[in-house]
Amino acid sequence: MSAPLVGVLALQGDTREHLAALREAGAEAITVRRRAELDAVDGLVIPGGESTAMSHLLRDFDLLEPLRGRLADGLPAYGACAGMILLAGEILDAGAEGRQALPLGGIDMTVRRNAFGRQVDSFEGDIPFEGLDGTVRAVFIRAPWVERVGPGVRVLARAAGHVVAVRQGAVLATAFHPEVTGDRRVHKMFVNIVTGS
Ligand code: GLN
Repeated sequence: MSAPLVGVLALQGDTREHLAALREAGAEAITVRRRAELDAVDGLVIPGGESTAMSHLLRDFDLLEPLRGRLADGLPAYGACAGMILLAGEILDAGAEGRQALPLGGIDMTVRRNAFGRQVDSFEGDIPFEGLDGTVRAVFIRAPWVERVGPGVRVLARAAGHVVAVRQGAVLATAFHPEVTGDRRVHKMFVNIVTGS
């Protein structure tokens, strides 16, 4: 396959770093704000930001159900931080009534929003990551953690005893932000998932 076309959901959050990381990892990368763009991509990154705001923008831009549909049809996706929250099947501490983060259901997992954030707003550390040599620099910013995974979900990384990276089929999620470190291995892993290699 030639360079796959990977979208970055660009309603809110840190879009630019993901576009750069995907290009360095060998993908063609575009922003996704419209239905036609969502329909065109071979894979989608859901960036960090604020999952409650992103949920409501998804609804306002008429992308919520189309995105749920594409995920149900097997669209490869990678969610970082707020993106991990949205890819869950169930979200705990989802936010204030009427402004809650809405699950997209790409991974059979329960995620607690702002879980680390209640203890410490942001921190970083080097953690082992299944499938990658050595360790990955993991930057956590008001990060979630994963409290339950279904039988089809592989745990790829843990931090402070909590699950912080998972994969189910073609959907990958990290509670941390690899796009800010210059290490492109997580994005490369996702691009390889998209190309099926
Ligand atoms: N706390 C944010 C949320 O609930 C996630 C933070 C982030 O993406 N860095 O969506």
